[in-house]
Order: sequence, then structure tokens, then C-alpha cells
Amino acid sequence: MYRTHNCGELRIKDVGKEVILSGWIQKIRNLGSLLFMDIRDYFGITQLMISKKLVKKNFLLGKEFIIRIRGKVVERFSKNNNIPTGEIEISVSHIDLLNSSLPTPFTIEDQTDGNEEIRMIYRYLDMRRNPIKNNLIIRHNLTLEIRNFLSENGFLEIETPVLINHTPEGARSFVVPSRIHIDKFYALAQSPQLFKQLLMIGGIDKYFQIVKCFRDEDSRSDRQIEFTQIDCEMSFVEVHDVLVFFENFIKHIFKKIKKIQLDPFPCISYSNAIKIYGTDSPDIRFGMPFIELNDLVKKKDINFLKTQELVIGIKIKKYHNIYDKIDFFLKKIENDNFFWIKYLCDQTLLSSNQSFLNKKILEIFVKYFKAIPGDFLFFSYGKKRKTREKLGEIRLKIADFFNLKNSKIYQPLWITDIPLLKWDKQFKKYKSVHHPFTSPKEEDIHLLKTNPKKIRSKSYDLIINGIEIGSGSIRIHNKNIQNFIFKHLGFSQKEIESKFGFFIKAFEYGVPPHGGIAFGLDRLVNLMEEDKNIKNFIAFPKNNYGKDVMINAPSFLEKEKLKELHLR
Ligand code: ASP
Repeated sequence: MYRTHNCGELRIKDVGKEVILSGWIQKIRNLGSLLFMDIRDYFGITQLMISKKLVKKNFLLGKEFIIRIRGKVVERFSKNNNIPTGEIEISVSHIDLLNSSLPTPFTIEDQTDGNEEIRMIYRYLDMRRNPIKNNLIIRHNLTLEIRNFLSENGFLEIETPVLINHTPEGARSFVVPSRIHIDKFYALAQSPQLFKQLLMIGGIDKYFQIVKCFRDEDSRSDRQIEFTQIDCEMSFVEVHDVLVFFENFIKHIFKKIKKIQLDPFPCISYSNAIKIYGTDSPDIRFGMPFIELNDLVKKKDINFLKTQELVIGIKIKKYHNIYDKIDFFLKKIENDNFFWIKYLCDQTLLSSNQSFLNKKILEIFVKYFKAIPGDFLFFSYGKKRKTREKLGEIRLKIADFFNLKNSKIYQPLWITDIPLLKWDKQFKKYKSVHHPFTSPKEEDIHLLKTNPKKIRSKSYDLIINGIEIGSGSIRIHNKNIQNFIFKHLGFSQKEIESKFGFFIKAFEYGVPPHGGIAFGLDRLVNLMEEDKNIKNFIAFPKNNYGKDVMINAPSFLEKEKLKELHLR
């Protein structure tokens, strides 16, 4: 028998019991004729008191050795309130060595001395540490909650194939050569998109899947080439139905996992998000919307600014707490088309350009912004798109620099009316913003011939604290519109047949109106736990270059293998 109890469960009420425990040695302290040891397993740590006589000669013990002990639970002389078992220890009467260990390449402690690279190579050691182990538990609890909620609401979990054909969904696919079918390749699914739509055609009312997806993109710290989606699809729904259901879904999991009641999610159209925040994934925790000033500068006849295509500004409230930092921050901004106004607490007005911003102009802006002493105003001007983009970036930098992003606050919002198409400069053709199966808004379809960029789609993104957590759309369910869109994306009839023939065929057999969404599970759990690095929530992640440094993948294939796959 390896254990009567685990290493995290014995308490003062167990004093006097004979127990057997097994686990890793966390710590050894040598006190003359006595050894004190901490033994650790998945559940916790228990202190052992061992007479040196018990530990025979040649019986070496060290950190991370695995032992089994038998002994009696006794009350501790000096208690440790930091761990649940801190009131007791085991007076050991018997000890067996179950396995030895090399010295570990980094300390197996909550605060380890190991850098990320070494922890990834020895991930199995890394997950002995509480921070990583706890993250895996949190992820498990979250997925359990998601599964329960969706199944209770009539969603059926269905697996879809991973080895499929490449379909243009925006990213590059990983391909897998076929041994049996010479010169042919599978592609790893970038998402179950077409299959979940086929499930709706197949009469499945609601589907979900917690599914691995593969995209051959440059990895980043917030992105993995192999990642997990909570993929969902529903029949007979419009945009509103999807948003209402999944707003409740997100609220439910935040309540269950984080004990947080989220406020209603605002809905902002794509074009307003760009106008107000300069980005399609705004972080709205700290306010600071853009104020457009073109009318004001024209009315007040402010030279130089009145001829600009766009003049916008933001107000940073009560910046006087950070007076000393702001100059340092301003020096770091690389953008010519900006100016600022400091409204000091003693009511002095300072600006970045004393010559063209005279006192009268400063007062006009201060009044317009309803600024009070201690506020700081920042302005940007120039061509519309660039000005918004720049101020959007600066707004975020200000929030970072001045610590305005409270990681305990969650402010989700929906972005709707996202454009259907965007112009791809490289290939000189239109591309889907979401994917080619996204439905345009009926009232905009007529723009397909005249102004395709202006067509709004029935797609939506869920943004939380500036991070895209989910995105989805109502799908095209009409064969002619689907064909029409394919053609506008530059597919020839032949390509449509070869890439989507099976899909178009299904459109002949009564396609229900349908729509769905997919959430990034890795990102979601990462956000909920206020972490900056999604690798911390993945048991065996890839590094930022898409490498698995533990198994050393990807790797070269032997010549024979290449031959077998008809690649040489
Ligand atoms: N398949 C889409 C994606 O991976 C999500 C969706 O439209 O439901 O982004």
C-alpha cells in the first residue's frame, strides 16, 4: 500500500493515527539526531520528523526523491499557519525509498529560479510547482463549467475531423503528406467551421466542441500555433440571439469561476469603435474616448488645425498624481502630429507648443473638455485613419504607463457591423475580414458591385479588456449569395468546385439559417487569471517560435520516411 492519506489532508483531529504517506521530498533539515523533511504530492505538503537512526547508512536522500513513510500523526511544537497541515507532523517509524532523483535544473518552489526556456524543457518538473499545477486545475474547472452550461442549454458536443483539406480561412494551414495517396496532402483544421455548418444542415440544433485548432502563423506570447477553441453553432438564430445567449454564457462562467457579476455588455459598431478608440478591440476600463474637434477648431478659427482632416483629443483625469512621470512619458512618444495641455493644480496652463497654442486657444480646449485643474489633455491631428490609429496606440500607452488598467476589472463589449471584406494589397483582391461563410447585412448586399469595402457583415467580436476573446457570425445560408461571395473573393468556378464543392452541394438540401461563435479558451483562462502569458495555462506549450523545446519538435525526418511519404 502506498498511502492511507495524501500529503495535504492530515489535520489536528488526526493526531494519534498511524498513517502511510508517499511523495517527493521537498526539503530536508538536519537537526543533529533528527531530520525534518517536507513530503509533497499533488495535494499538499506534510512535515516529517525522522530519527537519524532510521535512515540507514548508504541510504541517501535528497530533494525530489520519492519516499514512502509510515508513522504517527503528532501535534507540532511550532506550528506553521501558512499550510493546511501546519499544525501536525508525522513521527516516522519506517521509511522506504521508492525512487531517486537527480538534482533538478531549477528549484521546485512557487518562486523558482528557472527561466522560461529551462522550465519548458523540463515541463514535467515545472508542473510540480503550485503556480503551474493550479493553472491546470483552473483550466479544468473552467472547461467543466463550460461543458455543463452548454449541455444544459441544449448544445451537443460533437467531434469533427482534424485531418481535412486546406480551406482559405485567413491563416496558413499546416499540411500533412499522405503516404497512401501519392502527392496528396491533408491540412490540419484551422477551425471546425465548415463541419459545424454541416452539422446544422444535418439538423443538429446546437453544437459545441472544445477543440484544438492549428494555424501556421508566427507564434507570439499571446498566441500558439496549436490552440483551443470553444467552438459553437446554433440553428435558426439571428445576431441578437447569439449575442444574448453568449453574453449570459460569459456572465455565467465569470460568476462561477471568479465570483464576479459582470455588467451588461455594450454593443459598439466597428466604425464607432474606430472613431472613439482608434481600434476594433478597445479596452474601455479606463474611459478616455476620443473627442472630435474639427467643428470646434473651425468655429473658433484656430489656424493650422482648422485645415486638418481630423483633430481629436483625449482627457486624462487627475494626472497630478503622476506629474513627475508625464514628461518622461512624453519624450518617448514618436509622433509629430500631436500636442498636449497640462492644466496644473495652481490653474497654470502649460502646453507642448507655446508659440501656436496661445492662452486663448488653450482656454478654448480646456473649456470644451470640461477639464479641471490637475487634468491633462492630449491631441492628435492629420489624416483620419493614421491619426486615430496613433492616438489609439498612445491612449493604451498612457493607460499602461500610468497604471490605469485595473486587472481586477473586466469590461466586455461586443463589436458588431464589422466590414465583410478588406482589400488585400499584396494579392490585389478582396479578402474576407472574418471568413467567406459570413453573411453580409441584407441592406448592404447591393454595395457588392459598387463599394465592397462598405458592406457590413453579420459578424461580431467579443472583446474583454482590449483582448479579442471570441468572434463569430451569422452564416450565409443561401446558395446564390454564397456563390456570389466566393466569386467576389476571386475564386474561379473551378476553384469553388474543388475547394468547396461538398459544401455547395449541401446547400442544395435545405440549409437552416444559422450562426455561431468561437472563443479562445487559452486566452480566456489567461485573462480570467490576470496573467500575461498563455503558456502558463497550457500543459505542454510551444515557445514563441512555435517550437516544443521539450520533445524538440519540429524535427527532421529520416530519408526513408521522406521516401515513404513521396517527398524525396
Ligand atoms: N471559425 C471561426 C474562427 O475560428 C469562428 C466562427 O465563425 O464561429 O474564427
